[in-house]
Amino acid sequence: MLDLQDPVDSVPGVGPARARVLAAAGVHTVGDLLLQLPLRYEDRSRLLPVARLRAGEPACVCVRVLSCRRTGPPGRRARVLAELEDDSGRLAAVWFNQPYVRDSLRPGTRVLLYGRPVSYRGRLQLVNPVHAAADAAGESLHLGRPVPVYRRIGPLGAGVLRRLIHALLEQLADRPVPLDRLLAGEGLPTRTAALRAIHRPETAAELAALSARTSPAYRRLALEEFVDYQVALGLLARQTRTERGRALAIEDDALERLTAPLPFRLTGAQRRCVSELLEGMRSPAPMHRLLQGDVGSGKTAVAGCALLAAARAGVQAALLAPTEILAEQHLRTLAPWAGALGVQVGLLTAAVQAGERRALLERLASGQLPIVIGTHALLQPGVHFRRLGLVVVDEQHRFGVAQRAALRAKGGGVVPDLLVTTATPIPRSLALTLYGDLEVTRLDELPAGRAPVATRIVPAERWQEVRERLVAAARNGERAFLVAPTIEDGGAEEPLRGVEALADQLRRLLPREAVALLHGGQERAEQLRAMAAFRSGCARLLVATTVVEVGVDVPDATLIVIDHAERFGLAQLHQLRGRVGRGSRPGSCWLVAHPPLSESARRRLRALVQQHDGFLIAEQDLRLRGPGELLGVRQAGLPELRTADPFAHVEWLLQARALARRILAGADADAIAYRSAVQERWRRRIRMARAG
Ligand code: ADP
Ligand code: MG
Repeated sequence: MLDLQDPVDSVPGVGPARARVLAAAGVHTVGDLLLQLPLRYEDRSRLLPVARLRAGEPACVCVRVLSCRRTGPPGRRARVLAELEDDSGRLAAVWFNQPYVRDSLRPGTRVLLYGRPVSYRGRLQLVNPVHAAADAAGESLHLGRPVPVYRRIGPLGAGVLRRLIHALLEQLADRPVPLDRLLAGEGLPTRTAALRAIHRPETAAELAALSARTSPAYRRLALEEFVDYQVALGLLARQTRTERGRALAIEDDALERLTAPLPFRLTGAQRRCVSELLEGMRSPAPMHRLLQGDVGSGKTAVAGCALLAAARAGVQAALLAPTEILAEQHLRTLAPWAGALGVQVGLLTAAVQAGERRALLERLASGQLPIVIGTHALLQPGVHFRRLGLVVVDEQHRFGVAQRAALRAKGGGVVPDLLVTTATPIPRSLALTLYGDLEVTRLDELPAGRAPVATRIVPAERWQEVRERLVAAARNGERAFLVAPTIEDGGAEEPLRGVEALADQLRRLLPREAVALLHGGQERAEQLRAMAAFRSGCARLLVATTVVEVGVDVPDATLIVIDHAERFGLAQLHQLRGRVGRGSRPGSCWLVAHPPLSESARRRLRALVQQHDGFLIAEQDLRLRGPGELLGVRQAGLPELRTADPFAHVEWLLQARALARRILAGADADAIAYRSAVQERWRRRIRMARAG
């Protein structure tokens, strides 16, 4: 029997190689694998005779193979063509880039196929359909039934994940957890029953509620996440109340002195925010503040003032960035500014070499280095400060509460002030529930002279026009981003274009060095090289995944093309669009939409064309966000939440809050067990956060 805590390699079918792939995606345990929730569901239970197929309507057929042959050049572009029939008629099928399909389609055998028929040269054809031998039909996980479709993890496609998760569920022990008992009488499934229901729908009738993520199974999982979060915050708040902070000696005219070296004048809003922060740092109580400001509003300059004020007051300050690219960029901005004030800044990322790293760690431990900028590497146990007085966490939504806590703990006995920045505006009531005692400072004005980014929707069929515009931009010496959701093209089950293929396409039309490629699968050095080439203008186009989503500041960039824009959440699109129009030159944003577009995708894209204010967009996002569009949840600053959407499910959140209060105050065995489980999980998360 398997338990949720068991390592993922105890799942049948997961060997060392797959375990490594999964670990890289953050999947370490059986429980983690079960939290790879279906992206969507497909009803493959509808079996139709060939004669009743309709173009555009996905269906399953059971057919005889008449012939099957491979055409096209060898290698990637291989094509497999099959001629099929049942008693009602004939059908063609074609597979691209899957030469091995031919081996499983022997003439004379019967197969089950699932796909969306398209009309081609006057007859119906299935393109890249899913297939299974027909004698195994009753048993197939993939055909003849409703199936979950998963997001690919590296080389593991939806089909493989479906098989692994199925094998896991067969062996999963049905042990109730404390929340199952606390929820008794609420009419909800147990945790394991909920996971089974989500991964293995039995009838097509269940799919509507599952797809909308409103089924009792989803509610059960969401509740647990909300309760965990609330209990953790409650425990943390108890601890914070007993903590001691430090009153920093910051001069009255600090703002003028600190900003003197900047090439621009702070906006009124920036000045007000800086004043609020300095006030909080002067106070002896630990500061605990969230700085909210729209994309491009200049949060870096505000945070920079706080870092420099701390340094000049004789304490050390750390800036935690979500990616190496952003850490580098902050160093580029801050180092000359700090230098003009006689303050040194160091950089600590995983890429820093051993010798340099040792020297830097010594200077931090001895207190010689006043400001350090870094990534996760800053959280590791070997990093010590002599007098850590301020922690700034940039673009908070990439970090969890655990990471924040890990860094704050480095202050020794004294709690450093904490400033968290985010571009995601969150209604005050939710902020309270989600962040506990974080106070909010709003940066509600953009630097003067920024024109709104001209935004248009372009249907994918006009891709050629888009490509020409990108090529023209490169030739005219402009700088442009091309963003796509994935690295590689999707397989049969997910028709998606990846950045690698897109970059290849453009490199055939432009000098090779004009096109830089950036994605999460690259080595760090390669990423930094790509970014540097684009920043310096050597590369004119940057083809990237959403690693450029937050924070990247290349003021010269004027155009951003977002491929598969329909796949992104509204807030995320707004973030991406914020990469252009940051300097004096106006920016434009092309949203390339691939059909079929859901109604909500259509509305999202239209909202983005019309709306440019991040706060209004966030509000609209709350209203438009179809439940289950989890792409956007990360934006809310809650990386720990998988099923729970605090915007879509306010009612569940309130129920969770009441439960959490009971658990925090309860003296019964279940409440005590729950509290210590949360504390244990929490300690583990902090340890993991430190390990990077
Ligand atoms: P974000 O709030 O998205 O983090 P940044 O801090 O990266 O934004 O700032 C965006 C751009 O605006 C940067 O290029 C920065 O130099 C510039 N900027 C910031 N403040 C001002 C200002 N007061 N006047 C003019 N430009 C500014
Ligand atoms: Mg920023």
